[in-house]
Amino acid sequence: QTVVELRQLSHVYVNGRGATLALEQIDLQVEQGEFVSLIGPSGCGKTTLLSLISGLLLPTEGTVLIAGERIKRPTPKVGYMLQQDYLFPWRTIYENAAIGLELTGKEEAAYKPLVLELLSDMGLADCADSYPQQLSGGMRQRVALVRTLATEPDILLLDEPFSALDYQTKLQLEDLVAVTLRSRGKTAILVTHDITEAIAMSDRIIVLQPRPGRIRAEVEVPGNIR
Ligand code: ADP
Ligand code: ADP
Repeated sequence: QTVVELRQLSHVYVNGRGATLALEQIDLQVEQGEFVSLIGPSGCGKTTLLSLISGLLLPTEGTVLIAGERIKRPTPKVGYMLQQDYLFPWRTIYENAAIGLELTGKEEAAYKPLVLELLSDMGLADCADSYPQQLSGGMRQRVALVRTLATEPDILLLDEPFSALDYQTKLQLEDLVAVTLRSRGKTAILVTHDITEAIAMSDRIIVLQPRPGRIRAEVEVPGNIR
């Protein structure tokens, strides 16, 4: 089943200095449960593509279909995890992880068990009452992932989630994140500069080229269990 479908997607940014064709005629289909990596040099449109899939940005031309429906605004079906964690320093780890649910106005009793379970899955059970500044960078990224997962999106967009981490932490997190997302049946689209990470994490690698951003190649990665 196709959960993300991009049809002839193009995007032009217009500002005081003129127009930039950031993406041109992108066609892409992502299946339920599939992990796809987007790689390519800076400026090839990776972040623009994630913004379009998330519904935060509307395409100049073409269509984004999420579970068969054309999206016009952000939808709870899609969770977007940014490169930087942006945790609130005055909120505990639990309160940071639960913020998306708090904003929906649901009763805390309805979501607290899920948030605690996700924190536990991410090895953060003992940190629920700590504050962000007491945690390492890798731990903070895990909190950011829990926050994204807590609203139960089917599709996760991850923009270089591990780029600020040291090598060992990065390897551990790649593993933990892949296992957690796959065991929950999530679909993931990951932006990375790191080809090793793309191979370790995904079923398919989409290589983009810049000026304008286009799909240069698609490579299947065998052996990452789906
Ligand atoms: P990355 O390589 O991680 O995408 P960039 O440094 O290219 O990061 O972009 C950082 C931010 O600046 C993004 O929010 C992007 O939308 C914005 N940006 C990038 N290029 C331009 C530009 N030419 N004019 C205005 N904003 C830009
Ligand atoms: P990547 O994430 O692969 O580095 P981006 O999606 O950030 O690429 O950018 C694609 C192109 O669009 C680049 O040429 C960039 O300068 C341009 N761009 C990105 N954001 C903006 C913006 N807000 N305004 C103008 N140009 C932008």
